[in-house]
Amino acid sequence: MVSDKANKIGESPTFKVNAKALAMKAQGIDVIDLSVGEPDFPTPSNAKEAGHRAIDDNFTKYTQIDGIPILKDAIINRLKEDHGLTYSRKEILVSTGAKSSLFHLMQALINDGDEVIVPAPYWVTYPHTVTLADGKAVIVPTKEEDGFRLTPDQLSAAVSPATKAIILNNPSNPTGTAYPRRELEALAEILLEEDIYVVSDEIYEKLIYDDFQFTSFPALGEDIKRKTIIINGVSKSYAMTGWRIGYAAGPVDIISAMTKIQSHTTSNPCSISQMASLEALTGPQHEISKMRAEFQRRRNYAHMRLQSIPDVSCYKPQAAFYLFPNVSSLYKKEFNNTLIRNSYGLAYFLLKEANVAVVPGDAFGLDKCIRLSYSTSMDILEKGIDRIIEALSQLKTAKKIKRVSLNNSITHHRDSVPVDSSISINLRDALVAEMENFSSYENYFEWNANINGVIVQLRTNVSHLNDFWIENWYPAQLEADLEPHGIIYAMDGIAGREPRAFYNTETKTGILVNTDNYAPLRSLALGLVMDVSEGLFNVFALRGKTVDFDGKGLVLLGPKDTNKTELFSALLKDGRARLHSNDTTFVRFSGGTPFANSVERKLFLPTDTVESYPALAPLFDNSKCENVIVRKEDCLDAECQRIDDCRLDRGSPFCYKASKHTHALLDPYWIKGPAKHIKRTSLNWVFILRSDATSPPIVEMDPEDAFRILESGESLGSKGSLGPLKSEPFFNPHLLHTSSDRLDHHKNFFRHLCANIPCYLFNSGVAKVEDILNIVVGEANNEKSQV
Ligand code: PMP
Repeated sequence: MVSDKANKIGESPTFKVNAKALAMKAQGIDVIDLSVGEPDFPTPSNAKEAGHRAIDDNFTKYTQIDGIPILKDAIINRLKEDHGLTYSRKEILVSTGAKSSLFHLMQALINDGDEVIVPAPYWVTYPHTVTLADGKAVIVPTKEEDGFRLTPDQLSAAVSPATKAIILNNPSNPTGTAYPRRELEALAEILLEEDIYVVSDEIYEKLIYDDFQFTSFPALGEDIKRKTIIINGVSKSYAMTGWRIGYAAGPVDIISAMTKIQSHTTSNPCSISQMASLEALTGPQHEISKMRAEFQRRRNYAHMRLQSIPDVSCYKPQAAFYLFPNVSSLYKKEFNNTLIRNSYGLAYFLLKEANVAVVPGDAFGLDKCIRLSYSTSMDILEKGIDRIIEALSQLKTAKKIKRVSLNNSITHHRDSVPVDSSISINLRDALVAEMENFSSYENYFEWNANINGVIVQLRTNVSHLNDFWIENWYPAQLEADLEPHGIIYAMDGIAGREPRAFYNTETKTGILVNTDNYAPLRSLALGLVMDVSEGLFNVFALRGKTVDFDGKGLVLLGPKDTNKTELFSALLKDGRARLHSNDTTFVRFSGGTPFANSVERKLFLPTDTVESYPALAPLFDNSKCENVIVRKEDCLDAECQRIDDCRLDRGSPFCYKASKHTHALLDPYWIKGPAKHIKRTSLNWVFILRSDATSPPIVEMDPEDAFRILESGESLGSKGSLGPLKSEPFFNPHLLHTSSDRLDHHKNFFRHLCANIPCYLFNSGVAKVEDILNIVVGEANNEKSQV
């Protein structure tokens, strides 16, 4: 399990788009990549030669952690010459790129909970470096009419007692805006008064167009210089992105703290690159002027073309090499019946339909826009914009906008909980007293469910649990004098307790502490009902998936990773199949025949079932859901097969696949109507699943052998695991209180079951769904032909 911190951040979206474009190119697709964040010019030859020389001179060992003194001097001279700023060597840190300086700065500056103001649109990395330093990024949206620059009023409104710093990106990636001196002065006045540090990322300072005058933030005055840390580097000014040299200039205490941290992360930046950067900073600077003139020409051209597109407006930037057009008027248009909903959707459309890679504005905190880089030749730029214009002209106004308003609850706790399944009466009484003391009248829900004739009362302070409980089960009367067979307390928010479940069999009491997600509650309820119905009615549960064929049922039993869901979905696709139950069925013998009862009013389904049964997606859209992922950052599925074709990237407002903790409560009648769902069936076949590459596909088992496998809860050779998976008696994770008496009772039932109906061992690693169909439908066909 990775850390919460790692889970909070996402991979850089700009690099992701780049990677997609490269992958398409590798497939021979002629992609125009307007997503790149680096100059398309070569590194100046003098810098390259200095790199070669460094290798020849064996300047290839560790250097000073904070950079070689001559390079620091070159940085100091540049700052003096360009901005009139005075720094000493102790006030400079050379790092492995500006990104690394920034990371070390945040680690050195920010304490747990400190706020850092980040004007939006922002460079994608800023909020994440703040998060990684345990700080809180306070995003402050700027306005297009203000040139995407932070105003003094916006700044004042964002300041709080917890504000430690602001990250000012001047000039900006992605908007290309740059702050005139007087605007910086107005901000500096507030920042000084509030004693806030300024992180001034000036990496695009040399790429300034027309007659704009760039002002470095600390050049505003000595007072503000004491609170400012410049972040800069050679990546953009000298077209040296891959050399990885950046630097920070600021107060000694901060620079030395950053140096200490750097000594444990990267050590010194690359020795060869330091030499090359020294040459870039001290040598002739005319390459910059050439680059600047060319960028200005392209900016003018690309801006003019974008402005001419109907429904698109584009701010004209003063710097950098990006354009950030507002394309939001195109949202809600559609192409081939696919609605463009947001910047991810538009970027996806442009990549697939125009073969042009751009970055969604949402990655920079402004979903209305997309980012185009003009760091590519005029020819390619022209072709790219032609393609964009052509593709956009094909977008149609959507006739009928299908609004999907997801009914989704996000829970704070998502995992399963440990269960103490046979607590003593004394502990039960103490826990119940604790629960009752904890609950308050204003926030208390109570509801009786009828689960297979067993009345279970839920008492909870979690409205979401109450909501799912009512949705999941059939109701029982709620009269005060109706005595439930069992009670479940589900209380959240109890200080000092870990999420946990408890069960006492004498009183049929379940207690669930500090979890607000539904799966543990449902499991506890099923476990309680199994306990009651075995004792009272001699009715036993099977934990498996049941399908009916012409009034005859088959059940799939087995551990995880044996393709149960895929097989179940495939069976249901057969025209003769009817859905019975997807998780648990209760079985009673009547006249020697076992009958299976489906007891859930709504099926509690993992939403990633859409992978094997895509038709479920629109049904989930209208179901009550839990923990469906709606933000890309929350997707934890690193192994997603769709990573390169992510729904969220395409602009889908959510993804049913992205989390293992996502469920929907689906009405089984919605899956193809009443003709395709049956609540009761006789049980005619048991299929015990295993999955490996070598065992025979399907074996009809001796009843005693089948019973033994069920009893042990082990089916050999489960996919992806070396030995048997964790054994669960009768493959039933819901079972509570497994005393030997109770297990004996179970054994009698399962022996009887195996003796009465055929049991097969089915190897889903080799066999196909047709092998099951041959057995169940073949038998049915035989019977028909005998009639
Ligand atoms: N700051 C900004 C605003 C940037 O756009 C970038 C690069 N995209 C960086 C910093 C990082 O530069 P480096 O290559 O030196 O890490």
